[in-house]
Amino acid sequence: MADDCIFCMIIAGTIPADIVDQSENTIAFRDINPKAPIHVLVVPKVHLPDIASLATVEPAIAAELLAMTRKVAKAEGFEDYNLVFNTGAAAGQTVFHAHGHVLGGVGASKLFLA
Ligand code: AMP
Ligand code: ZN
Repeated sequence: MADDCIFCMIIAGTIPADIVDQSENTIAFRDINPKAPIHVLVVPKVHLPDIASLATVEPAIAAELLAMTRKVAKAEGFEDYNLVFNTGAAAGQTVFHAHGHVLGGVGASKLFLA
């Protein structure tokens, strides 16, 4: 838990979020500013700054998080989906608590590789 981290506050329940699923070590909630027909953030409950740090420090939780992305997409009606991990400020990361963006309905636009 980091005192000034908005995702830690959501995990602690001190600020609201539209939570769609949880597992022992992850939580999934809707992005407040959706960029796709479905846009859910899948977040480890442990505070680590980015996905690569999570994979290094807690590899089992990184795997649990990846499995959760498919479960969330399926529950939202998408077998196929885009998964984005902005890693570092210069790459657009704004919240420094690891999270994956599960994006459904974007199709094969290559939007995130442009
Ligand atoms: P990133 O730019 O990859 O760090 O993504 C951070 C994401 O968190 C952005 O898409 C924001 O819209 C989203 N976000 C920020 N605050 C909240 C919040 N309180 N509830 C849900 N999503 C949020
Ligand atoms: Zn945090």
